[in-house]
Formats: sequence, structure tokens, C-alpha cells
Amino acid sequence: MRTIDDLDVAGRRVLVRADLNVPLQSGSITDDGRIRASLPTIEALRTRGAKVIVCAHLGRPKGEVKPEFSLAPVAERLGELLGADVTAARDVVGDSARAAVDGLADGGVALLENLRFEPGETSKDDAERGAFADRLAALADLYVGDGFGAVHRRHASVYDVPERLPHAAGGLIAAEVEVLKRLTEDVERPYAVALGGSKVSDKLGVIDNLLGKADRILIGGGMVFTFLKAQGHEVGKSLLEEDQLDTVREYLRRAGEAGVEFVLPVDIVAATAFAADAEHDVVAADAIPSDRLGLDIGPESGKLFAARLADARTVFWNGPMGVFEMEPYSHGTRAVAQALLDSGAFTVVGGGDSAAAVRRLGFDETAFSHISTGGGASLEYLEGKTLPGLQALED
Ligand code: ADP
Ligand code: MG
Repeated sequence: MRTIDDLDVAGRRVLVRADLNVPLQSGSITDDGRIRASLPTIEALRTRGAKVIVCAHLGRPKGEVKPEFSLAPVAERLGELLGADVTAARDVVGDSARAAVDGLADGGVALLENLRFEPGETSKDDAERGAFADRLAALADLYVGDGFGAVHRRHASVYDVPERLPHAAGGLIAAEVEVLKRLTEDVERPYAVALGGSKVSDKLGVIDNLLGKADRILIGGGMVFTFLKAQGHEVGKSLLEEDQLDTVREYLRRAGEAGVEFVLPVDIVAATAFAADAEHDVVAADAIPSDRLGLDIGPESGKLFAARLADARTVFWNGPMGVFEMEPYSHGTRAVAQALLDSGAFTVVGGGDSAAAVRRLGFDETAFSHISTGGGASLEYLEGKTLPGLQALED
């Protein structure tokens, strides 16, 4: 994969596909982590005299112009962080975008409007996507892919534009790929993977591939209950994916054959309702009352998980162990985060909420070897899928 060092950018218009999909609350940015993560590549290009045209998406406006999804607040924050003017275009590939690009001096930065205001960006129709990609590519001389959080999407700005322009990977993508390679090739063992969170069906896929790679798979979060149910236990009103029970049984069987150790919680914090002030107790994992829902792994499970992480040399963690946003259900997530740090292993945290949990629970982010900016993208990579945005940068 070519990097920006391989491009001659001085005086040229460089389109940078970044991931600036930050959380907003009534128009203000609540966490600017993704903007900060995009700075090094933008700074490097500016310093080398490029005219930098940044493009990105925000939320899911579904091909329509919706003011609440405007990137204008992001342009402002980007300008503050860069300490430079950032021209905010009022459209994606229209008159305003062209004027913004034409007005750029060497080292200048413009941000196009939300890519997903254009139906062509996410279209499944190759021709429609291609037509939009043509217009986007026409704004620039070179392309840099740096939006790691979007590389698993076959979208115009991710996949079709690099086909149309000389291209390279930005620093963020290059760094993410290097880490993911360490999790898939020449892995230092024991290799443990801890999975949790609420997007159960999304995450079950990764287990398929991990059964051939990881030594231990620890399961917590909302995913646990599909496993417990598959083993024949009552899970009450907990999160459950009925239609995945057979898949999960198959995983448990294959794990036995492959010598992969599944570590499931032995106790669960079971509450009467999805609320911080609901009545809650620690119960055995095979004895969840039918009128309760499991919102965290219990204290014995926290110790068990920590013990199974202690001697690991490589750990990948995706998904909180419980509803960490509520204090009574945050202890399992805290225990696992602490165990990662105590292990001294190469530790990678993936997933937006997992990264947020690490920050919210007061851990030092820099103490982990790597915190990935793209949860979905890193999972799909570990699933062994070809990621369109990486494939486009390889060619
Ligand atoms: P990530 O963004 O790290 O990939 P997910 O988006 O899959 O993680 O899941 C994060 C959410 O999972 C958190 O908001 C957390 O409250 C929720 N969660 C964790 N455990 C449970 C549980 N037992 N029941 C319901 N939700 C849970
Ligand atoms: Mg999430």
C-alpha cells in the first residue's frame, strides 16, 4: 500500500477521505476524537504544500440535505485544532465546493459538505455511484484514503474515487492496518479475544474466523445470553438473538474440536429493569430469574476473565462487558479494561463504545497499545473479509 510519502503533493489538489463522524448534541460536538485522529495526515499534507480538500460523512442523512447533519461545526473544530482557516463548502460537489477548492492556496484546507447528502455516495447502483465519484474526483489531482471507520463500506468516496485518481493511504489507515496485521499474522500467543457489546449478530461473524486464530474467546455484554441460552439456561428478559442459537451451538462445538477455549461468565448482575436505580443482584449465570435482565457480568466472572487475560501476549477487545453507562453495571467492563493493562500484552481496543468506556471509566487511553477508530471496520478485517476501501488503496 502506498503512503502519502510516495505522493508528490506540492501545489496539487489532494482529496482526503477522512472519518469525521463525531457525536453531536444539539449542534455541538461531544467528543472530537475522530477529528483529532485525522489531524496528522492533514497537517503532513499542508506542510508539504498541498491544497487539502477534506471530505467525510456525518450520521445517516440518507441522500438528502438535512441541516442537522451539516459538517459546518466540524469545519469549525477542525480549524481550531489546526490553528488555520478551514473553508466550509455548502455543498459536496456543486458550485460552493468548486469555489472553495479554487480559492485554496498551497497549504490551505477546505472541507466539503456531508458526503451522504448525495445519494450517489452510498448507492448500491454502480453507475449512480460512479457518476458521483466522477464529480468528486474532478475536484482533485490526487486521493488519500484516511477514513478508517468507513473502509468497510463500498461507497463512492471510499471505493470508486481511488479508482479514478493516483492514490495513497493516509497515516491513520496505515497505522490501523499495521495493528490489524499483528492480530492476524504472526500473532504472539496466547492470543485472547474479549467480545461484548450489544450488536450481537454483527459480532457473531467474527467468532467464525477467530476459531481458527485465537487461543481463548471471552464472551460478555449482551452477547452472553445467546450463549447461555444455547447451553440450555434461562436468560429471563436479557438481550437474546433467538435466530442465532444454532450458530452459537455450532461455534461451541467447533471450539471444542479446534482446542479454542470459550470463557463464559459464571455470574451475572441481573436487574428488574434497564435502569441504574432498578433492583439488581448477582446471580449464577445458569440461574437468571425469568423476570430479570442481565446487565453486566458478575464479580466472579470479572476475576475469571482477568485470570484468563493475565498471561496473554496479544489481546483484542471489542464491546463493553455490561451497560457501563450506568454505574451499577460498569464493573465488568472496568475489570476487563484493567486486566488488559495488567497483562502487559499487545492490547487493542476496537469499537466506538468500548473506546468511550475506557475514557469514561477514567483509564489512560495511551496505556493501551492501540485504540481503533473503527469498530465495524476492524471487526470485518478480523472476520477475514475484503474491505473495499483497503482493496482500492492496494491496487
Ligand atoms: P462497540 O461500539 O464498542 O462496538 P457495541 O456498540 O456493540 O460496542 O455495544 C455497546 C453497548 O452495549 C453499550 O452501550 C452497552 O450499554 C451495551 N451493553 C453491554 N452489555 C449489555 C447487556 N448485557 N445488555 C444490554 N446492553 C448491553
Ligand atoms: Mg457501538
